Amino acid sequence: MYDFDLYEPESLTDALKLLEEVPDTRVVAGGTDLMVLIKDLLLRPSVLVSLGKSKDLVGIGTHDDGWCVGPMTPLWRLERSDALRRTYPALHQAILALAVPPIRNQATLGGNLCLDTKCIYYNQSHVWERNLSRCFKAGGDICHVAPAGKRCVGALAAETVGPLWVYDAELTLTSGRGKRRVSLKAFYTGDGLTPHDLAKGEVLTEVHLPTPGPRCGAAYCRFAYRKALEFSQFNLSAVICLDDRGRIDEANLVVGAIGPQPVELKESLSSLKGQYPSGALWAKAVKKAGREAARLARSPRLTLYLQEALSAYAERLFREALDRAKSNGR
Ligand SMILES: Cc1cc2nc3c(=O)[nH]c(=O)nc-3n(C[C@H](O)[C@H](O)[C@H](O)COP(=O)(O)OP(=O)(O)OC[C@H]3O[C@@H](n4cnc5c(N)ncnc54)[C@H](O)[C@@H]3O)c2cc1C
Repeated sequence: MYDFDLYEPESLTDALKLLEEVPDTRVVAGGTDLMVLIKDLLLRPSVLVSLGKSKDLVGIGTHDDGWCVGPMTPLWRLERSDALRRTYPALHQAILALAVPPIRNQATLGGNLCLDTKCIYYNQSHVWERNLSRCFKAGGDICHVAPAGKRCVGALAAETVGPLWVYDAELTLTSGRGKRRVSLKAFYTGDGLTPHDLAKGEVLTEVHLPTPGPRCGAAYCRFAYRKALEFSQFNLSAVICLDDRGRIDEANLVVGAIGPQPVELKESLSSLKGQYPSGALWAKAVKKAGREAARLARSPRLTLYLQEALSAYAERLFREALDRAKSNGR
């Protein structure tokens, strides 16, 4: 650890001012990820600006057209919301899968959405012997995961991104210069070095969730080698919307944690529209999902074993999403 200054401004306006005026600052929310990076000397900001006292960034607002969640809302609060579990079950499942209760008590939704990418070659303690040359993320010129590539393929392992993706969430980003609203999909750049479209001094200030359609259901699951205290090897978020005759109107499957941004498996699902859902249909559609995900992620992280697991998990997940779509349509 090294010395840094911690500022705890009382309002968002003061926080934005500090971020604009003070050089080498970094926003801290719950600190559950950022402090690990600082402890491992992977980041060395001189000043941390905490959003912890900005009360307007905490809370859940419900409106006719959906929800608006403050990014400083702690995950435990979302986890214990029955309304969230009923309305956005895939997001609720993702929060329950994240780390362990003591971390979820401290961690925030905004911190999860702004989580940095991770990589086994980079995210190591400073006492770890680094015999390899510096990778892109460490300021070097190679990626040890995909050495033939020309970019960092660090994984965005944040659990809540996939569910918010399939719920078509939008984000408000605020800086001293004003506000802008972007779709969550556009917020992720696909670049492992700067995975978020966040300008200097800009802060995530609102997460907007539209009300899900009447015959739509979504579900989330993840694959990790341990049940807790482990980032996902991959996570899956699925959504299905049925038309009024019970045929598939829309189906999407989003894979997270295999690259710098989630990937949508469009090819595997292209034949589903207009079909009546059945077990055989899912099995056929997701058979090659693992392979498609590996190709889109453009990194060897998704091994053959994980590709097989992904297809099997996807099949189960679609059944769960379908059950929800049917019960929402009743
Ligand atoms: C043991 C352990 C296990 C974990 N397991 C998981 C897991 O399974 N899945 C998972 O997704 N995460 C996991 N995490 C990571 C982390 O706990 C969570 O991602 C958490 O949600 C981060 O939230 P935070 O509020 O603590 O963010 P912080 O650590 O405070 O911040 C994270 C990043 O977001 C930026 N940031 C925070 N808020 C904003 C904002 N409003 N605007 C702009 N930038 C912002 C910070 O500058 C920082 O770069 C784990 C962490 C630990 C220590």
